[in-house]
Amino acid sequence: MGSHRRIVVLTGAGISAESGVATFRGPDGLWEGHRVEDVATPEAFARNPALVQAFYDARRARLAEVAPNAAHLALGRLDAAWPGELLIVTQNVDDLHERGGARRLLHMHGELKSAWCTACGTRHRWEGPLRHNPPCPACGAQRLRPDIVWFGEMPYAMDRILHALGQCDLFIAIGTSGQVYPAAGFVETAREVGAHTVELNLDRSAMSNRFHERRLGPAGTLVPALVEELLA
Ligand code: NAD
Ligand code: ZN
Repeated sequence: MGSHRRIVVLTGAGISAESGVATFRGPDGLWEGHRVEDVATPEAFARNPALVQAFYDARRARLAEVAPNAAHLALGRLDAAWPGELLIVTQNVDDLHERGGARRLLHMHGELKSAWCTACGTRHRWEGPLRHNPPCPACGAQRLRPDIVWFGEMPYAMDRILHALGQCDLFIAIGTSGQVYPAAGFVETAREVGAHTVELNLDRSAMSNRFHERRLGPAGTLVPALVEELLA
């Protein structure tokens, strides 16, 4: 492990599960009791903005009740100590990586703690609710939406992510089901440039057989162990 210099880490909802944040596809196929199509698409927001805002308001408020777990903290240690290139790409919209010390971090699917004005286009750090349609701090319009990349929308920072993947020699995917593209394709991009690829997941995922190496178990145990190996 220690011979690698340029690392890309991809994380998904599974890394936050042990912090008490629900993953996306539970056994019942629902996310916190909602069908994905009802809360995580632009069409859903156009149809029923109050429902969608209330859903994300609840997720945002929940962040105050959860804390980073051993996996987030281990990636924070890696970020602080790793002398080579590192990019942590998360599909998560929670703030647990930041609170775990990660700095070289990209939120490709947006952030709960950001609001995006659809009138003037500016983004604002946002802690409170949006369902009462508060005015945009920049332009005053009451058209703030969650700064979340919904299904059918373009993920953020794809140019930076593809650049890092195109140069990496180690790609690590943690707690992601491999069902949401383009993230599910990152393992192929990394393999094409000859990177070693490792998957950490509680169970086998849809992409498991594309990785050189698989480690099965909870992220809170597997990630600290992997970080120890890398920093040894
Ligand atoms: P997913 O819910 O589809 O898959 C979660 C994966 O994590 C599964 O493969 C599961 O086996 C694994 N897992 C569950 N518990 C684990 C543990 N303790 N340790 C290791 N692995 C564990 O998640 P996804 O692949 O990230 O895709 C879901 C989409 O939903 C993302 O686009 C994301 O934006 C969004 N989402 C984000 C959050 C969050 O911010 N925390 C939560 C739910 C959904
Ligand atoms: Zn505005």
